[in-house]
Amino acid sequence: MFDNVEIGIPCPKCGHKTQKTIAWIKANDTFSCDGCAAVIHLEHDELLRGLGEVDKSFDDLKRKIRDLSKSFKL
Ligand SMILES: [Zn+2]
Repeated sequence: MFDNVEIGIPCPKCGHKTQKTIAWIKANDTFSCDGCAAVIHLEHDELLRGLGEVDKSFDDLKRKIRDLSKSFKL
């Protein structure tokens, strides 16, 4: 569900943030920096771990909304 979300990947060399979508990151191992053209290896595990946490809290939120709507019906 976050595939179309753009995130800025900071370049370790110049600090420039390159905007890429989650779908793009999942499909690619490396990217070249828009700022200095350095080729950077993507740490998928690290990036996607952060996203997984967002996903989890979204699930919690959906569950809470569902519980809430149940109590409205009563
Ligand atoms: Zn750079």
